[in-house]
Amino acid sequence: MNAFFVAGTDTDAGKTTVTAGLLRAFRRAGVPAFAVKPVQTGCVAGKEGLEAPDVSLWKKAGGRGLALYAFRVPCSPHLAARMEGVNLRSAEVARACREAAAREGVTLFEGAGGLYVPLNEEETMLDLMRALRLPVLLVVANRLGCLNHAALSLDALENAGLTAAGMVLCRAVPPSRTDAGTSAEAEALILEDNAESLAREGERRGVPLLADIPWMENFSEPDEEAWDRLAAALEPAARHLASFGRGDEDNEALLAFDRAHLWHPYTSAMHPLPVREVTGASGARLFLRGGTELVDGMSSWWCRVHGYGNARLVRAVQKQAAVLSHVMFGGLTHEPAVELCRRLLCLLPQGLEHVFLADSGSVAVEAAMKMAVQFQQSAGRGERSRFVALRGAYHGDTLGAMSLCDPVTGMHSLFSGVLPKQIFVERPSCRFDEPFDEASFAPMERVLRAHAAETAAVVVEPVVQGAGGMWFYHPEYLRRLRALCDELDVLLVADEIATGFGRTGRMFACDFAGVTPDVMCVGKALTGGMMTLSAVAATRRVAETISGADAAHGGGLFMHGPTFMGNPLACAVACASLDELVSSPWRERVQHIEETLKRGLAPCRGMSGVRDVRVLGAIGVVEMERGVDVQAWQDYFVARGAWIRPFGRTVYVMPPFVISDEELAVLTGAVCAAAASAARHGGNPAEEERERNRC
Ligand SMILES: *Cc1c(COP(=O)(O)O)cnc(C)c1O
Repeated sequence: MNAFFVAGTDTDAGKTTVTAGLLRAFRRAGVPAFAVKPVQTGCVAGKEGLEAPDVSLWKKAGGRGLALYAFRVPCSPHLAARMEGVNLRSAEVARACREAAAREGVTLFEGAGGLYVPLNEEETMLDLMRALRLPVLLVVANRLGCLNHAALSLDALENAGLTAAGMVLCRAVPPSRTDAGTSAEAEALILEDNAESLAREGERRGVPLLADIPWMENFSEPDEEAWDRLAAALEPAARHLASFGRGDEDNEALLAFDRAHLWHPYTSAMHPLPVREVTGASGARLFLRGGTELVDGMSSWWCRVHGYGNARLVRAVQKQAAVLSHVMFGGLTHEPAVELCRRLLCLLPQGLEHVFLADSGSVAVEAAMKMAVQFQQSAGRGERSRFVALRGAYHGDTLGAMSLCDPVTGMHSLFSGVLPKQIFVERPSCRFDEPFDEASFAPMERVLRAHAAETAAVVVEPVVQGAGGMWFYHPEYLRRLRALCDELDVLLVADEIATGFGRTGRMFACDFAGVTPDVMCVGKALTGGMMTLSAVAATRRVAETISGADAAHGGGLFMHGPTFMGNPLACAVACASLDELVSSPWRERVQHIEETLKRGLAPCRGMSGVRDVRVLGAIGVVEMERGVDVQAWQDYFVARGAWIRPFGRTVYVMPPFVISDEELAVLTGAVCAAAASAARHGGNPAEEERERNRC
């Protein structure tokens, strides 16, 4: 489908005239063309129901088209719709538009008024355009003030992530209606200069001025000759559009370069698994080149809790980028960092008072480890420099963080020479959803008592072990651990990088146990996944002890300071993300997702090859008996419209909180179908079924 959205800089910019002329120009060139008016106001009763004036004009020009939502009152769509008891939603209108688009040739969707004309109480025409994601032809009314209107419209399109395919300047007002006081000569000068200035502005932005339509004398009653003159003036524009944006087929060159030169996560440079190109995303959906839409079941590895394209977050980035995108944090501070820490301290468990901003989760874990070591040194227990961690844990990929990961799945053997040797305790055996079993804490108790004298801190992912196996354990374990750490003067470090900010149904997983760790790491969803940022929060006791050290033990300074520490852009978007979270009904949403996932994944229970099904908050896990073939499963999911990337034995979903029930059903349906197919075919969902699903 080759389609465009025809938008105006204002009401009466000449959109309908330009659309009519383009339809005629396409017809003359033998290109099939069709126009759609998503919302038409000012319709009149005719022989065959409501007649849309714009559609009538297209027809006079010899074009074809239809109006989707027709209203009588000639005013803004939201008002006209409301007066007839209709609520226009951009998503619904966009769906109707897609269905109405011609399969062949070019389709032109003509908007109503300017970009910010309201569609309903919350949305504007621009939201409809964003939902359609089509290149935009901007019709500029050639009159005094049009350069300003055009530049503002181009900015608005750019900020909305839309591509302007070109501009058409249209003289829509007859000379007789020129404002009093302007002589005809001055007016001619202005209109001529408008064309030149607009062409220059277009050149700067890479948006060509495709036509300059003069006022057409007999245009109220156009004859064939007048239409032909208009079509001729628009011929270059029609040619430009017919060949525009033809790149939506698979971009082989890009994928080939990627394959030859780009390293992807945990992947061979020489024999990588295939990757897919994402061209955009909105809400809980990813858009692939070629037109495939996938429901995102991964939240891009925990972080995109608000989904994609959230207006508040996008605006926060745009605004902060224009104000101050980065400045060093040594000796300087700024409002976004201070505001972020103010917000964080309100949300974090009581007692955490000092915040260190870092640039990624792994670096936060490194900083937390260094805090623990410096704390013990300052307290005169320098021999306490090791860490106790859990089997099945994941804490990041840098060397220090990696030393805390599960020794087997964390590939310790590969780095045995360089990794510090930590002390491991078996993973907490007591499930989240079963009564607490005293015996499950015994291994920790035994190991920690035995190694307390050499241990700086215990590091755990509270309640949910993520990338190391998606295991949910009982909160009572954390309470016991807190008490034991206090008794033995060992610090408790909680890695909430995956679990933080509502994912488990609580703001933080520690909240299940009502426990305050000595040090806590957050990251991932901190910025809603817009930027990389992490934070390490410590109690007053930890900060005070480190700060009280003598010169031989760091002199009271905490020895860490990344270049991008406190990056204003990341801090500003984190503030916006936290505001979005606390002002949203996230608890209800996560609880609803939990219930829906429980129901939706239940059919997997008891299937052959399935070991366990578990759900906590917005995390749903189907654990298989054996490791799965990532590529085979992923292809199967993609064929069913779902983006789910299993690892090891776990097939899991953790969708954005804004996901709809319909979209959730796509995810759970795909997981159940894959598990059933794998059961029938002994391990992987079958290729022939994948092929069939693709059709
Ligand atoms: C992802 C993750 C990390 C590492 O964060 P990065 O930003 O990838 O460095 C650390 N701990 C946990 C629990 C994580 O899930």
